[in-house]
Amino acid sequence: MKTYSKLLDHNIIQIDTGYLRPGLAACYLIIDNNRAAVIDTGVEQTCDRVQAVLADQGLTFNNVDFIIPTHVHLDHAGGAGKLMQLCRNAQLVIHPFGSRHMIDPARLIAGAEAVYGKQGLRDSVGEIIPVDENRVIEADDMYRFRLGERELLVLDTPGHARHHFCVWDEQSRGFFTGDTFGIAYPELDCDGHSFIFPPTTPVQFDPPAWHASIDRMMAWHPERMYLTHFGQLDEPVIYLNTLHRMIDDLAALALEHDAPELVLAPAVKQYIYQELKKHGCQLDNDRLAEVLDLDLDIIVQGLEVWLERR
Ligand SMILES: [Zn+2]
Repeated sequence: MKTYSKLLDHNIIQIDTGYLRPGLAACYLIIDNNRAAVIDTGVEQTCDRVQAVLADQGLTFNNVDFIIPTHVHLDHAGGAGKLMQLCRNAQLVIHPFGSRHMIDPARLIAGAEAVYGKQGLRDSVGEIIPVDENRVIEADDMYRFRLGERELLVLDTPGHARHHFCVWDEQSRGFFTGDTFGIAYPELDCDGHSFIFPPTTPVQFDPPAWHASIDRMMAWHPERMYLTHFGQLDEPVIYLNTLHRMIDDLAALALEHDAPELVLAPAVKQYIYQELKKHGCQLDNDRLAEVLDLDLDIIVQGLEVWLERR
């Protein structure tokens, strides 16, 4: 195994995408009867890692049947076009609301350049390449497909983004959750318990839809979740109430600060740090800043957009 990859049970391999810092974003390789699927793609540089991990398994890009970004945010789908170019037999499975951005990424790129700057985007995500529309499967809710002998199913899960789905794997009884089941960085684990929080990323944060999506996933009685940020989460039912509560808490906090003279960012930071303390986290503030500053920024931006659009 490569240092950036981890063999999980059920022929699933977790790969650190290399996006921004180690441990920030993962993608997953599922293998069945020598056929492979990649769930979330990371960024351009992730392609080399996928190739190396495939080679570890005696496989090449030609064994990849499906490339499946959970949604079109660039830490999940930035490398999808490049990976599609390299995996000649693969089809892209994507939410119907995300497909046009994969086929013509101009708007994705423009949006990301506004946030990262042109050079910043190149450095962090790399080149974003369009996907041939003849190779795109728009996967509606409950779309089922087969990888080797294995059945995968797509569940429409709005709340973090309207173009988000999660992928159910019957064999592992697990969901590949993208961002829908929150973020849980291993650095923040305490006594084997994960610290979970919902990324209220711009521009489609939708609390009621998110609650419904989480409950819908739980109705499948999943035994584990595969989080993009970051890794396998066992016994998801333990985290259910926290996730629901934090979606509501963050929305409430935003509403309390819905006035020009009030600043939301410090309140969000204080709230998350308080939750971390309750959780038993012992990391000092410098270390917490390294792990969380980027997400705190995105959470605040997303809440502000949500307030404006309500
Ligand atoms: Zn996202």
